[in-house]
Amino acid sequence: MRITNLNCADDIGASAWLVEVDGCRLLLDAGMHPKHDGNAALPLFAAAAGLAVDAIALSHCHHDHVGALPVALRQFPGARVFVPEQSYFLLPRVLHNSVNVMKRQRAEAGIAEYPLFDHSDVDQLMQVVQACRYRQVVEWGVPPRPRAGPMPTLEFFDAGHVLGSAGVLVRGRKDSLFYTGDVCFAPQSLLAGARFEEVRARVLLTESTRGATARPKGFSREAELARLRDTIAGALSRGASVLVPAFALGRTQELLAWLAMQMREGALPRRKVHVGGLGRAFTEIYDQQAHRTERLLPDLALQQALELQVLEEGDAQNMSLKGGKLFVTTAGMMTERTAAHDLAVRLMGEARQCICFVGYADPDSPGGRLKASEAGRTFRFSDLAPQVVRRCELHVFDLSAHAQREELVGFAAGLAPRTVLLGHGDPPARKWLAGQIARRLPSAQVLQPRPGESVAL
Ligand SMILES: [Zn+2]
Ligand SMILES: [Zn+2]
Repeated sequence: MRITNLNCADDIGASAWLVEVDGCRLLLDAGMHPKHDGNAALPLFAAAAGLAVDAIALSHCHHDHVGALPVALRQFPGARVFVPEQSYFLLPRVLHNSVNVMKRQRAEAGIAEYPLFDHSDVDQLMQVVQACRYRQVVEWGVPPRPRAGPMPTLEFFDAGHVLGSAGVLVRGRKDSLFYTGDVCFAPQSLLAGARFEEVRARVLLTESTRGATARPKGFSREAELARLRDTIAGALSRGASVLVPAFALGRTQELLAWLAMQMREGALPRRKVHVGGLGRAFTEIYDQQAHRTERLLPDLALQQALELQVLEEGDAQNMSLKGGKLFVTTAGMMTERTAAHDLAVRLMGEARQCICFVGYADPDSPGGRLKASEAGRTFRFSDLAPQVVRRCELHVFDLSAHAQREELVGFAAGLAPRTVLLGHGDPPARKWLAGQIARRLPSAQVLQPRPGESVAL
């Protein structure tokens, strides 16, 4: 087995791994780097130039895992695409949205190579996408002539991270690899957590997102949510508006489910929840796919339980913020020209308003800079708001949809593979995990392939 890291950067970056087993080739994920622009955001497909790739398997529909799929299919024509069944309707929605975003960036930021693909490419690629149930064993290799023995298989295991997220087990005649994708072991409000108990593999390729993040002693998700509830209740009761920036896929629906339960129980007052159009579309798919998902609150239909109000063009800049409005809106990192960015610019200067961070925001993004801002001090929020002062309330909650680092080490120790590859993490995060895993599994090889590097196992 040979594995090549096609991530274009040495950080979380763009997920893409090329796996060669029994003479067949599988691409695991085809993501875009969220902080790079244009071709520089693509995986290092050149490192696989001229190679025939039989299939592409996608762990889940976040942009850093699927955003480069149309380009991958141009590079590897004829490859079939396998996704967990719940991802089937999310995938085109995510890719069509990124065509729109790229077109806007071309017009506004002058990125000449955008869009890297068009709506017609997205429609066309859906013809080769095959939806698989969790635990369904699928042969993915294209048999050479004559067919030589059993073909390699893949199998998706529920990863509990977002709807349709999966770890991928790849089995050859002798070798086996398990790729965690992005994983959440603990239950969230809606998703029940990863089901990796029955995974057996000789090679583990694990995400490392939170490897450098220690949780404080006594941390509990329940206590964190109680603090969020009290913060929102307090703000609404004094007529303040509350902005919770959240990624449209996953984080938004988890928050909506929690809000619906809080309002149903009377712990929060019933209010309209203002969301973005993309967040609403994903929420619809979450509701439609509820019966195919192992989830808590199986009967909760988010669209029925809540009064969702979609933000229209211009609303974020112009609508009145009086009377206590509740916003759960993209983008999580408050990128320029998103509703979260524009609302934050308006809210942050007023002392009574309230902004709540519930997930990761890159320190080098507007959200990250706002998160680190000191009250009353001028700071640079974004290119569009270079000089602002934050006077509003600002709270940070840890409601991550990624595994705790101790859980990743525990999973690796239980699996006891002979080789562990670390990906999807910044260097300090991988370093911590490498040390801990080496301690727990002294005979295992722990590797961190660099961008473009191949390792033969
Ligand atoms: Zn993800
Ligand atoms: Zn990711």
